[in-house]
Amino acid sequence: TQRLGISAGPTVWSEFGRLAMENPSIANLGQGFPDWLPPQFAIDALVEGATDVAHRSPHQYTRTAGHPSLVKELAGRYSRHLHREVDPFKEVAISVGASQALYLALQTLIKPGDEVILFEPFFDLYVNQIKLAGGTPKFVPLTFKPYDDSPDVITGGEWVLDPENLEKAITDKTRAIILNSPHNPTGKIFTRNEMEAIADAVRNVASDDCVVLSDEVYKYIVHSPPIDEMEREEAAQFEKSEDGLKYQPAICQGHIHFASLPGMWDRTLTISSAGKTFSATGWQVGWAIGPERLMAPIHQLLPYVQFCASTVIQEALARALPKADLPYEGYSSYYEHLKAMYTRKRDLLGSALNEAGFGIPDYDKSPGGGFFIFARIGKEIADKIPKDRLMAYNAAAPGTVARQDWALCQWMAEEKGVLCIPASPFFSEDCTKDEDGNPLSDQFVRIAFCKTNDTIQKAANALKNIC
Ligand code: PMP
Ligand code: GLN
Repeated sequence: TQRLGISAGPTVWSEFGRLAMENPSIANLGQGFPDWLPPQFAIDALVEGATDVAHRSPHQYTRTAGHPSLVKELAGRYSRHLHREVDPFKEVAISVGASQALYLALQTLIKPGDEVILFEPFFDLYVNQIKLAGGTPKFVPLTFKPYDDSPDVITGGEWVLDPENLEKAITDKTRAIILNSPHNPTGKIFTRNEMEAIADAVRNVASDDCVVLSDEVYKYIVHSPPIDEMEREEAAQFEKSEDGLKYQPAICQGHIHFASLPGMWDRTLTISSAGKTFSATGWQVGWAIGPERLMAPIHQLLPYVQFCASTVIQEALARALPKADLPYEGYSSYYEHLKAMYTRKRDLLGSALNEAGFGIPDYDKSPGGGFFIFARIGKEIADKIPKDRLMAYNAAAPGTVARQDWALCQWMAEEKGVLCIPASPFFSEDCTKDEDGNPLSDQFVRIAFCKTNDTIQKAANALKNIC
């Protein structure tokens, strides 16, 4: 890893994945994958796709930049989302998960010395991917506004982008800004104003070399109030337009595609994948969508990274996507069902945590998306962490601050039967400090609710033993 320019020990996923494996009965609210099967129509699409060999076997290599049936389906959908005609063969690339699409985007955009802006906290994968491309991550902290200023136990809050912080971070070396909305780990949905501020910042970079990588893997998991006024107006206008494209408000309601902002198509690579939407994180089909000038280098690099992503799974997804628009279990579409299900699960986890005394009274206060509650550890909980665990952590990593988030999560996993993810991997070393000078990074845990109601309830019961 030294040769590659990254420092990489075990990741939070390998550490906490190991703890989950060692104790199969643990209530696992850790890594973000659903613990149920994909919807039946997606399984059917997989079986049909795998066995329909009438035209061309889906068990052989396909086109490197993406299986034709899938790129056509995605181009059609994004044409509606982005209000423009997207070319399936020039403006779409299929990858192994969104992770690889991000990797390809950074490899093609960044040259040594370039800077990439990240909003902190951030999904941990980005930092080393930027470094692998020879770039330097620049962290722009989101401001944490707790709902409760003096929480004893645990509290939620809003994470807000201050455009001034972004402006200050932009230099003539800024080559990309990574935006992730809905956001992992906080569940934040960037508001239209915040997105406009990002668009302004991009416009202010003199050359058109600075682009936004918009990671939208949670775009269908939105539990915010209905779409904002502007989105409604845009939708109405679009319906009236004569270019033959029809806006479908049922798809993706509540999500703003950054590339749909004025002038931003040409400055954005939109990245997403099927895993979260179809409760199939192991399918590992992801994609990048963007203007030809940004996509052509990705198409050129792809054959040296993979021959193609799995043909069978691409075919399955191409068949599943249109089925997801149909009425589903009493909802107008699968997407509406998904949104309602996650809103209920968020409420179940939120109220169960409150009942256990590990509460976040206002977990549903701000518009949110994704499937995590990001909660600040209050003093009452922090004081329960056995001191020897905190000391052991410091002894293992001398000179570092007490990572109370790791100590708390390890203690809960090893002794209390419930697994959550410590938040420090989502922060930089020099992250924002609180009023007492302690880094924010140690003060949060991420709790997943993409889990069965039984698992959520079991975790809540286990937490009662802590409080
Ligand atoms: N971006 C974010 C914000 C994520 O949470 C994840 C989690 N899986 C990914 C990207 C990677 O997605 P994939 O599994 O499709 O590679
Ligand atoms: N995105 C998922 C999470 O945040 C999975 C992370 C991963 O596997 N690297 O939990």
